[in-house]
Amino acid sequence: MSVSTAVVDPSICAPLPVLGADVTVPLVTGGDVTYAALDYAASAPALQRVWDDVAAYAPYYGSVHRGAGYLSQLSTDLFESSRATVAEFLGCREGDQVVFTRSTTDSLNLLASVLPADCRVFVFETEHHASLLPWRDARVTYLDAPRTPAQAVATLERALADREPYGPALVCVTGASNVTGELWPVRELAAAAHAHGARIVLDAAQLAPHHPVDIAGSDVDWVAFSGHKLYAPFGSGVLAGRADWLCDAEPYLAGGGASRTVARRADGGVDVQWHTTEARHEAGSPNVIGVHAIASACKALTEAGFDSLVARERTLVDRVLAGLADVPEVRVLSLFGDGAPRVGVISFVVEGWNSSHFAAALSAEYGIGVRDGLFCAHPLVRTLLGGEPQEPGECGAPEAEPGERSLNAIRVSFGAGT
Ligand code: PLP
Repeated sequence: MSVSTAVVDPSICAPLPVLGADVTVPLVTGGDVTYAALDYAASAPALQRVWDDVAAYAPYYGSVHRGAGYLSQLSTDLFESSRATVAEFLGCREGDQVVFTRSTTDSLNLLASVLPADCRVFVFETEHHASLLPWRDARVTYLDAPRTPAQAVATLERALADREPYGPALVCVTGASNVTGELWPVRELAAAAHAHGARIVLDAAQLAPHHPVDIAGSDVDWVAFSGHKLYAPFGSGVLAGRADWLCDAEPYLAGGGASRTVARRADGGVDVQWHTTEARHEAGSPNVIGVHAIASACKALTEAGFDSLVARERTLVDRVLAGLADVPEVRVLSLFGDGAPRVGVISFVVEGWNSSHFAAALSAEYGIGVRDGLFCAHPLVRTLLGGEPQEPGECGAPEAEPGERSLNAIRVSFGAGT
């Protein structure tokens, strides 16, 4: 199948025999090949409803915020009502801001750019690189990988209690690991952070597609997620939460839209007054289609109901884990141990197999697309595998000789639609 002949239709779901007759997955078809992508953790296929909503908007497409024309007004309404939809989806508090970004990576780098002076950052070494790396210019403490959720809370409490001097602090934690799929104790970590005068940002890139995210209920200060993992297309993301640090800092990007007034000074320079709304960090022409698509995906998930999505996914997770348990050579990767609650993200190694070759064989022989490598979480994968990863591409699979012990893993992931 060449790329040009492939057809992706997420509305066409078909049984995938190796998972059982009642499990259906979106298929890519082309020529005589049928291909199932179990790689939702990397990017989830956009829902047909999302494509339909985007297509319905296409004839009315216009720039936002700065035009008096009908299309511009309509697009502005759509853009701002998308913000309200996302705020509702995330359970935002009164006064929280929803800033549209390009992705989770962009959202966390934006937050890193607004940290108050002297802010300490606490982050577990188990994080995805998007959560691990943006704070390197801040005073950051990397916390060791915990082996239970309770140990995570205790480790954080100890680190926060030890911090000197007492000043602004931020904890960054994932809601669901992109490697193990395991859920982190977000409420408890938020309570620990707040008890020690720190704030907390939740990396919900893997959580939001699978579980409700409740900013107010879980008492986190910010949430970041990506549209392309939430069944919307690439190119849009969200940072939502408390307004104060966002409003106090210089804009993430300087440019039109972020500024309220700009005037030449007598000395020849330029004075700028920046907006104090979300616009402050949304300089330039925004991705209106991407934002509309995110809002559409939020509505679709809300209407489908997370209760049924979670229950369905738990069935699939149990089935995949049971199947893998039947293969003695397979070791499923886990920080928190058997029975830990997890989303539909499962990584494993197969003794005697190089993971890259195993993943290639799954694709070639069974038409199943999975991810292999280090999943942009090198320290975590190193801990789970107990060794140095082979020379990696950042996220991809390093090469190893056939039969050589593989220090990277295979990841199967699924979600709504499976
Ligand atoms: N955080 C986690 C847990 C992820 O799994 C990912 C992507 O895989 C990211 C952050 C970064 O997301 P993006 O590449 O959309 O910025």
